[in-house]
Parts: sequence; C-alpha cells; structure tokens
Amino acid sequence: MNIGYDMYRTLGISGEVYAYGEAVAEMLQSRFTEIDATAEYNQLKVLKGMQDQQVSEACLLGTTGYGYNDLGRDTLERVYASVFHTQDALVRPQITCGTHALALALMSNLRPGDELLSPVGKPYDTLEEVIGIRPSRGSLAEYGVSYAQVDLLPDGGFDYDNIRRAIGERTRLVTIQRSKGYQTRPTLSVARIGELIAFIKGIKPDVICMVDNCYGEFVETVEPSDVGADMVVGSLIKNPGGGLAPIGGYIAGRRDCVENAAYRLTSPGLGKEVGASLGTLKDFYQGFFLAPTVTAGALKGAIFAANIYEGLGYKVVPDGRQSRHDIIQAVTFGSPEGVIAFCQGIQAAAPVDSHVTPEPWDMPGYDAQVIMAAGAFVSGSSIELSADGPIKPPYAVYFQGGLTWQHAKFGILRSLQSLVDKGLVKTEDVAKAREKLKKSLS
Ligand SMILES: *Cc1c(COP(=O)(O)O)cnc(C)c1O
Repeated sequence: MNIGYDMYRTLGISGEVYAYGEAVAEMLQSRFTEIDATAEYNQLKVLKGMQDQQVSEACLLGTTGYGYNDLGRDTLERVYASVFHTQDALVRPQITCGTHALALALMSNLRPGDELLSPVGKPYDTLEEVIGIRPSRGSLAEYGVSYAQVDLLPDGGFDYDNIRRAIGERTRLVTIQRSKGYQTRPTLSVARIGELIAFIKGIKPDVICMVDNCYGEFVETVEPSDVGADMVVGSLIKNPGGGLAPIGGYIAGRRDCVENAAYRLTSPGLGKEVGASLGTLKDFYQGFFLAPTVTAGALKGAIFAANIYEGLGYKVVPDGRQSRHDIIQAVTFGSPEGVIAFCQGIQAAAPVDSHVTPEPWDMPGYDAQVIMAAGAFVSGSSIELSADGPIKPPYAVYFQGGLTWQHAKFGILRSLQSLVDKGLVKTEDVAKAREKLKKSLS
C-alpha cells in the first residue's frame, strides 16, 4: 500500500522529492526482503538466548550499592554470551561508551612488553589515544605496550605477507575493526574477518583476536565470534542497545579474556561480582530484543541514502548495489554548503530538537570544524538518525541510524529537501534522476 503524499507534504517534502523517494524505495524492495530475512533470523536468535537463559520478570529490576547477586545483570551477560556464542560476556552501564569498552578489552588483556597488532590499517580515531599512536596520558604506550600496524592493500585486501612478518614473539593481541568507521576502505564482512583470524591463528595460535564490532551487530546472521574471534566489543548506544539502552558497552568472548576485563573494570579480586545495574536492565533487555529489527531499519535507510544520492550523481560509499556489513553511509558533496545542508536536513527530521539548526564547530580532537546532526532520545546515540561531517575536502558526510526504516526514509528525503531548498540540487535534476531510474527498471 502506498500511503500517498499528504503526510510528507505537511512535513515539508516537495512533490518531486517524494516521487523520487518512492521510485528509489520501490527499486529496493527485493534487497529489503533480504534484510528482513536477516532480521527474522536474528530476532529468533535473541529470543532463543533469552528463553534459554530463563529471563524472568525479576531480571528487569536492578540493584544499587555494590550490586552483589544482581540476577538481572548476570542473566543479561549470559544472554549476550548465548547470542554471540561465547563463553562469557561483560555488559555494564559502568562501561561508558564504545571507546571505553575497547580500551578495557585491550588494557586488561595486554601486559608491559606485549605488542598489539592492527592488520587492517589505522583503527578508529578515538583508539589512537588509547593505544598511544597520538601520545596521550594513560595510553598503552605509557605502560610499555607497543603497537604495530599493517595497512590494507590498495584494493582493500589483506596484506598477508606483511601481516606474517609483523607477528612476532611479543604479539599478544590482534585488533580487527569490522566497520570502516570514518575511512574509505570497505567494511569487513564476517567471512573475511574469519579468513584473517584463521591466517593469524595459523601463525600464532595463542594470539588473542579482538574485533571492534561497533555498528556491525546483527547486520549479518553470524558475528565475528562465530568465526574465531576471542572477543567482540561494542557500544550499547549503537546496534545492540536497540535505541533503548541509555548508556553502556559490552565485551563478549573467551572466559579468561572477559574475566581480565572484569578485573580491570572493577578491581582485582572483585571482577564481575560487583557493579550495580541501577535502573538500566529493562532497557538493556528490551533494547537487545529490538536490536535486530532496529538494525534492519537503519540498514535500509543507509541503502536508501546511497541510492538517492548516487542517482543524483554524488559519490557514495558503499555504492548503491554493494553488500553491507555495517550501517554507515558516506556521501561526498564536494562543498561545505552541501555537508551543512545535508546535516541541517537530518536535524530537521528528528523527533527531538528538530527546531534547532546545527552549525559547524571546533570539536576537540579534530583538525577541522565538524557539523553534527542528532536529535536523539539518548544523547549522542548513533543508532538513532544522525549524521556528521568534517568541513574539509572531500566534504563528505557520514550518515547512520534511524530507529525505524520509516524514519530513516523520511530523514533522507528531508536532507534532500534541504539541499533543494538551498538551491544546491535543482528540482529538475531530481525529476531527471527519477526518469532515469524508471527507464533503467523498464
Ligand atoms: C563508534 C565507534 C567506536 C567508539 O565508540 P564510542 O561509543 O563513540 O566511544 C569505535 N569503533 C568504531 C568502529 C565505532 O564505530
């Protein structure tokens, strides 16, 4: 059923932008059916985890103080372990964000004299300071943990020769980032991560393989922990929090690795036994339950965005047809005005703070001004509709999230409307893109 144009008109979308959006959405139906099938599988996987671990009403209540015998917390960690097929998991509101979860996994499993290796190029920006690539107080480098990196080959493949050379006696832990983050390399599929881990373990079986799983959870029916990863690590204000978790991070993996992380998060001797869940558990459970379908909605939004802007002649990564392994979409506008108009359109589509206008600002830690659009229920949540872009060449924006496909779709149309309203995209070009699409389909 087509709901028609009326509601879109009341929300400021022009007839031509709407019609183009309908044509693109129609073209994508078969891909959306595949995404729904993945969500269906993952929905059952999460449900099975919850049933197998006998989640009860009492699990939804929290503890205070030390948090000894926190039934809900301990059961939730078993649910995560069950869904990721790992021996154990640490899922806590005391883990403040994704970077914290990754830092925790690294710092608790590395010792002075060890070496950390990234065989997939430069890690996510915030990890540079954790590792000490950019000198920073309290970094791994300060504690005598060295770092080695092997970049991907120009075609995106693994540089197996140099990876083999980089693995030495001191190599203790290998970090593999699934998502491309803010780089232009392709995101790694779980299958490719599995090949890389098999290669590394073939050279040094006792090396710990950790995967930064941020933005990747539930995009496929398998997770890196299904293909040999000793730890998978991520943020609860991305995919696995399902938009409901108000804070948190997780580490799922081998028992000894998770135990090390727990001793570091709380204290040697205390480990997982302490750490009150406060009032977070219901949202953690319910968010995890919704995560497969929320991720599916965000994924559809990313593919829709790719095709909308590709059809108008912009460079998009991944492109409109590529298979997806995370929920991030990059669109290159080539001008500051394009980046700003896009982000202002995303902001105008938000359920919260839609009336404010984002502007570029000097964000700490970045070498150029950055503009961010986020009108989220959970501050900074990037599983909700959000976008950001540095104001520097090539003037690309990174778009992600949307708690529902319907909202992600509207957000993208609103962003295009913003470009049209500012004269950066002509209405006649939108009409031409739609005609071209119609022709290619017939
Ligand atoms: C978001 C992200 C992080 C860091 O998570 P924060 O919650 O922002 O600290 C790390 N790695 C990747 C790939 C990410 O996408």
